[in-house]
Amino acid sequence: MKNTISQTLEINEVSESKIGQVDFENLNFGKIFTDHMFVCDYINGEWQTPKIVPYGPLTMEPSARVFHYGQAVFEGMKAYKDDQGDTFLFRPDENYKRINKSAERLAMPEFPKEYFFDGLNALLKLDNNWIKPGFGNSLYIRPFVIATQASVSASEADEYKFLIICSPAQSYYSGDVSVLVAEKFSRSASGGFGYAKAAGNYAGQFYPTNLAKQQGYQQVIWTDSNTHEYMEEAGTMNVFFRVNDTLLTAPISDRILDGVTRKSLIAIAEKEGIKVDVRPVKVSEIVEAAKNRSLKEIFGAGTAAVVSPVKAFGYQGEHYEIQKQENSYADYFKKALMDIQYNISEDTFGWRYKV
Ligand SMILES: *Cc1c(COP(=O)(O)O)cnc(C)c1O
Repeated sequence: MKNTISQTLEINEVSESKIGQVDFENLNFGKIFTDHMFVCDYINGEWQTPKIVPYGPLTMEPSARVFHYGQAVFEGMKAYKDDQGDTFLFRPDENYKRINKSAERLAMPEFPKEYFFDGLNALLKLDNNWIKPGFGNSLYIRPFVIATQASVSASEADEYKFLIICSPAQSYYSGDVSVLVAEKFSRSASGGFGYAKAAGNYAGQFYPTNLAKQQGYQQVIWTDSNTHEYMEEAGTMNVFFRVNDTLLTAPISDRILDGVTRKSLIAIAEKEGIKVDVRPVKVSEIVEAAKNRSLKEIFGAGTAAVVSPVKAFGYQGEHYEIQKQENSYADYFKKALMDIQYNISEDTFGWRYKV
């Protein structure tokens, strides 16, 4: 069935949904995708008419530049359904701004706002049955841009594809994790593109993370590339430390991703009178706080898991356990944020976006 809902979006619906084959009780994160995807090509210096088409493989030349020079940026966001069946996004403007900031750093063209939001709305309406109600259920949304131009000469492409694919997700809880503080490796460097959500930043993380896994840690806490003396991010999340009742987190920089979850937690904390110190956090002060037991919590913050508590960390051959807290900040922030996302609490910040 082909129909055009507006001048700027073409829709080609699947003839039959595959939703009946999906076991929503046992979803593996990121393995199953909805019936449709959003696609828009950049050719001759212009974004062409965006389309929604059945989810399926892409055909590209093996010489497409993304395969050779890694021009690829992405976003991660979620759609949530409340008990009345209404669908919401959480601060999608932030994701829109960030994908263009990432694209700019990788010399890729800016994507038009109207295409992004029209595409998201139309896609989420078409695949609405894939968003299950219930606290913790969501639809993970992955917008991304890749360089499609067929050429192996080493310069930025002049053809790109912008896509949005969607994957149903359940509450994501991997248990409290142990993390290894990086002493040698970095995920990003000063002057680099650590602040961009770029595929290449992830590619470089897998190897050091695997080495940490061999030592019994699930993730790495990345430290600054110049001195390795400051805590920067945990795995693919921003990181918070609770020392006594104060939260510490590094300021964003060109090495640190400006997470939507991070800045939302800071805003909630400030409103609730929880003290947050946004400043460089020394590894040595966290080791000291672990030793004298003023270190109460460490947690990662990001869209996929919301808040991910850390139970222990390793540094310079020592292993430091953190005692489990009653009334943890991690639990408090996770609930506060999810209550807003699922339209349970009042949205005093104006963060919800109704689809
Ligand atoms: C995506 C990401 C985060 C978390 O950002 P959110 O907007 O909160 O999902 C943090 N660090 C890195 C490196 C990331 O890629």
